[in-house]
Amino acid sequence: MGRDRRVEYISSSPEDTLLIGRKLADLAVHSIICFFGDLGAGKTTLIKGFIEKATATPLDEIISPTFVYMNQYLGQEQKVYHFDLYRLQDAYEFVSLGFDDYLYSGDICLIEWSEKIAPLIPPQHISVHMAYLGEEERKITIILNEVHA
Ligand code: ADP
Ligand code: MG
Repeated sequence: MGRDRRVEYISSSPEDTLLIGRKLADLAVHSIICFFGDLGAGKTTLIKGFIEKATATPLDEIISPTFVYMNQYLGQEQKVYHFDLYRLQDAYEFVSLGFDDYLYSGDICLIEWSEKIAPLIPPQHISVHMAYLGEEERKITIILNEVHA
């Protein structure tokens, strides 16, 4: 058994968080990335940086899929699916909407409120934990979850 790798950042502004999102887009080794943190923690902000970098989509065209559960972005090299499951009932609803296919597509899935579909998340994934420290300060912990023999 080994230890999962983790890095921790303190972000001092939304711009900082966008930058961390762009960096993550370059480093992401797993296609499933789960985001944890309260409303306003900055999950969508980080994801915007990621999607901009990964798919060359202008920031102002990246909007939260709160009411539709999922938005997709088709870049030259990769496809990115951005989920916001805040309003989702449970994993059964996710499957009944056919969304589980995306999880196993090999394309990148950025998932807010993945707690709702915990049983469906593959053990090999990245998790990003975001916590409010102050008006513009956030703690961001990125964890590489590996499968241990
Ligand atoms: P979530 O998706 O977690 O609900 P959002 O990214 O939609 O969060 O909203 C975060 C809010 O907090 C935005 O209004 C953003 O401008 C503000 N904010 C202030 N400081 C930061 C920071 N350091 N990182 C991210 N967002 C920040
Ligand atoms: Mg959000």
